[in-house]
Amino acid sequence: MAAMVCPSCYVVSKRAENYVRAESMGRQPPTLALWYVKRQMDNTPVSQHLGPALELRKELTDKLISVCVEALPGKAYGLVGGKDAYRPENIYPCSSNLRNTPEWKSLFEVFGDFYQDPDRGFVISPEEQGQIMKQIEARGESFIGVFHSHRFSSPDPSELDMTFHFDPHLLCYIVSVVKPDHPDLKIYRLEDSSFQGIPFRIV
Ligand SMILES: [Zn+2]
Repeated sequence: MAAMVCPSCYVVSKRAENYVRAESMGRQPPTLALWYVKRQMDNTPVSQHLGPALELRKELTDKLISVCVEALPGKAYGLVGGKDAYRPENIYPCSSNLRNTPEWKSLFEVFGDFYQDPDRGFVISPEEQGQIMKQIEARGESFIGVFHSHRFSSPDPSELDMTFHFDPHLLCYIVSVVKPDHPDLKIYRLEDSSFQGIPFRIV
């Protein structure tokens, strides 16, 4: 099972895995890998609110936001489960972080000054992901999304978010807690290599 990542936080992309693998095997010049990662970023613009509305229960919304606020000054991240991608039912906060292992650390640092700080970004371990997948399946849910907090920026996907998020079936929930009294949630979907904001209503 693939590890999961994020910048300011989540799902490890095959591109990232390939980058790490190639570099550890010495088969690809780092400069080429760097060019490749940047190329992916150039191709992933964010467009505005399209697609069907998502229904977010008030109770789940409150839980998602409180998990992100209460994690401060740390970051929060995890998985989202549900029977329908547009009807999320539970969030599953995670605590493992492989971000500062040698492979991941060097990958994060490719993304510029912001990620020289080892506190920025996360990579969920395959072991924790596996444990949560069992909980998700035990509830009859599917793995339908990932969430993470942004402590220093708006709830818009970062370059790293866009580069690592490769699965169009997983929705991306970002909660900005720059102002903890006024948290801001946005939800995105990857479509045709671009991120689209998804309208949602709290029910
Ligand atoms: Zn992010």
